[in-house]
Amino acid sequence: VHPLRLVDGIYPAVAVTPYGTLLDALRDSRLLQVKVTRYETVTKELPFETQTVEDADLDFGKTETVQAGQSGSEQVTSEIVTVDGAVVSCQAVDVQLLQAPVPEIIHRGTRLKSGMIGKLGTGSFLWPVPGYSGISRWANLPYGHRGVDITAPYGTPIYAADAGTVIAAQWHNHPTASWGYYVEIDHGNGYKTLYGHMSSFVVQTGQTVTKGQLIGYVGATGTATGNHCHFEMYYNNALISARNVFPDI
Ligand SMILES: [Zn+2]
Repeated sequence: VHPLRLVDGIYPAVAVTPYGTLLDALRDSRLLQVKVTRYETVTKELPFETQTVEDADLDFGKTETVQAGQSGSEQVTSEIVTVDGAVVSCQAVDVQLLQAPVPEIIHRGTRLKSGMIGKLGTGSFLWPVPGYSGISRWANLPYGHRGVDITAPYGTPIYAADAGTVIAAQWHNHPTASWGYYVEIDHGNGYKTLYGHMSSFVVQTGQTVTKGQLIGYVGATGTATGNHCHFEMYYNNALISARNVFPDI
């Protein structure tokens, strides 16, 4: 750290100090610190990023990886300075790209068959089970069946009909007319929707969801015969028929 020089010469005897004493004195006043600068080169992995692209040629909710991601790498040279063995600075002085990462590209389908977007008043809704196979019965209001029974194979995704807040995601405890595992969403504009008999749900009470977000899967839990989604719609807490919202289904 401090430059030291040996200089030949003639000195007064009184100025001469024994070598060992001199070393001790230099050490005590920290004048013999050794500074080392070294360079280290390491290869670092560069993680790839994932890009999701909406694809109108792919069924709603389906995803397809069109390009697999691949990590890249770079060579980083660092200058490391130590004083008496302790690192006092470390900084990258050179970066060489060895291999650029390749991003993963995923296509997410947005294609809906005709009739799967419904409007009523100020509400705009997505048909919650685009992968459905049929309708076993519509709502019979005000005193009959409360919703539409949308049949679909076990495990078919169920999506939020509109954005909102999940106000229930739980088991429906009812002895004779249980919705089983169900989700209810308050859309904040007077409308609410409810999805029953799920095999499982993937949202929690209090969570906000976007329109078309996956909320659960078709099943036959609760009072149900066969796999279907029992779908109820409400406006100002009164049941409305999905048939009026999705007349072309
Ligand atoms: Zn039903």
